[in-house]
Amino acid sequence: MPVIRQTRQREAIEWVLRREKRPLTPPEIHELAKQKLPGIGLRTIYRHIKDLCDEGQMVGIDYPGQPLRYEMVGGNHHSHFICRGCNRTLDLQVEVEEVEVTPPKGFNVTGQETIFYGLCPDCNPDA
Ligand SMILES: [Zn+2]
Repeated sequence: MPVIRQTRQREAIEWVLRREKRPLTPPEIHELAKQKLPGIGLRTIYRHIKDLCDEGQMVGIDYPGQPLRYEMVGGNHHSHFICRGCNRTLDLQVEVEEVEVTPPKGFNVTGQETIFYGLCPDCNPDA
């Protein structure tokens, strides 16, 4: 496959994730990337996701009971919000105070993730 076409596909994927500012499943990325590159296929999306993850530019967000979603690495540290109604996930800016962790001997803590749950406006009858 020509390099130029590959670059445009990858740019479309990065464009989607940076614009949405929330972790997305591959089918969600596919739907949105088609707005920029109508001919792009789901298999292509998966291939680029794998490349981007291998290069450390993208990470998978794997929460129990949730589909695997992806987001670009970098930018501000943020937490995630998951809607209990429709499983929509979005980024939350949270002021996190310094947390003291005491890992067991031999364990090395390299990151932390906080998940907030609730209802989005579509799922909240009181909204
Ligand atoms: Zn919802």
